[in-house]
Amino acid sequence: MHDEPLHPDLDRRADDVAGQVIQWRRHLHRYPELPNRESGTERLVAEHLRSLGLDEVRTGVAGHGVVGVLRGGLPGDRVIALRADCDALPVPDLCGADFASEAVDEDYPGGPFPVSHACGHDGHTAMLMGAATVLAGVREELPGTVLFLFQPAEEGPPVDEKGGAREMLAQGACADPVPTMAFGMHVTPYPKGYLGYRVGNQYGASCMVRIVVKGKQVHGSTPWQGVDPMPPTGAIITGIGQLYRQLDAFDPVTVTIGHIEDVGRFNIIGESVTLWGTVRCIDEADMSDVQKRLTTLADHTAQAYHCTATVEFLQDVPAVHNSAPWVEAALPTFRRVVGDDKVVETGATLGYDDVSEFVNAYGGLYVMLGVQDAELNDDGVPVPVEGGRGIVVNHNPGFYLDDDTLVTGVRLHAHVAYDHLTGALTTRE
Ligand SMILES: [Zn+2]
Ligand SMILES: [Zn+2]
Repeated sequence: MHDEPLHPDLDRRADDVAGQVIQWRRHLHRYPELPNRESGTERLVAEHLRSLGLDEVRTGVAGHGVVGVLRGGLPGDRVIALRADCDALPVPDLCGADFASEAVDEDYPGGPFPVSHACGHDGHTAMLMGAATVLAGVREELPGTVLFLFQPAEEGPPVDEKGGAREMLAQGACADPVPTMAFGMHVTPYPKGYLGYRVGNQYGASCMVRIVVKGKQVHGSTPWQGVDPMPPTGAIITGIGQLYRQLDAFDPVTVTIGHIEDVGRFNIIGESVTLWGTVRCIDEADMSDVQKRLTTLADHTAQAYHCTATVEFLQDVPAVHNSAPWVEAALPTFRRVVGDDKVVETGATLGYDDVSEFVNAYGGLYVMLGVQDAELNDDGVPVPVEGGRGIVVNHNPGFYLDDDTLVTGVRLHAHVAYDHLTGALTTRE
């Protein structure tokens, strides 16, 4: 791909907004909001987009989502959707920065919870706000339309609420204009400024599982007069550890029970036990099989102890498909933006991201942006650099990201958008 005269201009404009991106990110970091409660973030984003004079700024999309539409000044049919997720997590903030979060959400279902941006969505939101500044600045030279998608509840809304990417689509976020490509990126513990991509599933398929094992409540001294739901619960968890052996070992699957709620007491056998967990599959074709086997396991194990089990699968998220043609089309752009040597293939992950709803529907890519004090060893695995802050994975209370790297994300958004609209980055004519 030859360089367009606008490319250096995009970079200059990204440099100009970089300081403000850091300010936005630090503000968001200090004031994080849990899924479906992102009202402050929504306000900040909407105010900014309006200040840029976008053609449309819609708020309240799927809760606190914001959609911005920027129509370019040149004729063109292509529509690039740039997506950032905006929500935080119910974990404490141990990142050590002076802008660390002290937020507590008192009213959240299941809470109160400490709240922090342990997944780095503060960075995603700030980078896309910066990209909006850059692209609005060159709007007269854009042959097509940019759709900005600021998405709430990527981490999953409270179990009784709707939310996230699927709900944004249901509410028409991409109905008009309809994207011809979707793009986004996730910050990750890779070396700063590196771009990681994977041909195939960048993220795995996921769902939440809730299993309610029911017995009969009774005093702890007379278990024979009731039915104890605790022993089958233990047996179900043990059985889950064997599920993977029933599936092709070359397509990784994990089933994790991360949380258990028991309603008993030390001397009371409770009526029920609720298990909360997650199923992850690299190959989403395995998902229904795992669900069937897990249901059989829970059902029959409970029966063996004269209990019942109800198994529900909630909040399913499809895998993120980065197809080979899209990767091939985008590599020249990626290499120009971050440098040839910093574009690397990543391994598979059983993490999930509901950006899949956008990428799978409209084509496009989701990639990883390295933001930590790391280097790649000979096997391409990130390892800590001496004197750095180490490698701290997303969702860890100590997760950190390097502010100075955010400008790279701004440039990526801007270059991918421009190259797509001009027809240099696409899989179709
Ligand atoms: Zn996350
Ligand atoms: Zn995330």
